[in-house]
Amino acid sequence: MTTVLVIGAGFMGSGIAQVCAQTGYRVILMDVNEQALEKALSAIKWSLDKFSSKGFLKEAPESCMERIATATNLNASAEADRVIEAAFEDENLKNTIFTELDRLTPSHIPLATNTSSIPISRLAEITRNPERVLGLHFFGPVPFMGLVEVIKGEKTSAAVFNQGVEFIKSLGKTPVKVHKDIPGFVMNRIFGAAFRECVDLVADGIASPEDIDIGMRLGYGWNIGPFEIADNAGLDTFARVGETMLALGEDHLVAKSDLIIKMVKEGRLGKKAGQGFYRYGKDGKKVPWDS
Ligand code: NAD
Repeated sequence: MTTVLVIGAGFMGSGIAQVCAQTGYRVILMDVNEQALEKALSAIKWSLDKFSSKGFLKEAPESCMERIATATNLNASAEADRVIEAAFEDENLKNTIFTELDRLTPSHIPLATNTSSIPISRLAEITRNPERVLGLHFFGPVPFMGLVEVIKGEKTSAAVFNQGVEFIKSLGKTPVKVHKDIPGFVMNRIFGAAFRECVDLVADGIASPEDIDIGMRLGYGWNIGPFEIADNAGLDTFARVGETMLALGEDHLVAKSDLIIKMVKEGRLGKKAGQGFYRYGKDGKKVPWDS
């Protein structure tokens, strides 16, 4: 059985681990924070139970759960056949992780990062075998979103890239191939261009997040509004992506206003914190601000 090591048990890592386990892979979910691991396992179980109750699972949720092991350090990487890194969007942290992976894993094992904005080639350069490093950019919530960008770094080999595409198909997802490693890849560049304007319109008092979300749903056929997407993803992650994009000279993809940074400082991180552009109840459903 192929073993996938997923590094980071947050919003993305827990979703990636779930989808891998659901499609028959053995998973080692690693996080330095034990509470994050506990939270991830209960979120995965809750989600699998929901899928099961709707008849979408081929086996009992418990059987899927049995394929997920946890770890608090990277020693487990010796057992992995492929690695997906989904820790915080922080280049220094990811550099440390890739340095460790370079040391601990056999040189033929593909090393993927789920980064939203850091160039794949910069992480690859840390390793002795940059041809095995690629981007697998999942979209959240991972169990529901069908798209994964597969990104070729400057030195990613054709074999590793093609295996990445096949791996994503094996998860029941649809790969979008990104042939050149540019900041934000394809989808986040497009979303960033739209969202930058949305944030500045709100910051300038032109329209509310609610009205812009309604507008994008009814006017442009989006299933979910841009501010709902941002709240789901986590505004802290958005702030870090914005920092990286600015550092890479992609100013035109980042809002001029510092609204997101201010919201993060106030603890309004989005759905996971109970408030962001919207307010949420314990069940994760939106509630009015004055309730
Ligand atoms: P998150 O904050 O929910 O989770 C990050 C996890 O990384 C935390 O549980 C943290 O404990 C863990 N971590 C920190 N240091 C670690 C280490 N040294 N080793 C292992 N784990 C460590 O973040 P997220 O939203 O899941 O994002 C993770 C990655 O996925 C980021 O690179 C982000 O840019 C990317 N991404 C996020 C989204 C999104 O919608 N949130 C979408 C696509 C890609």
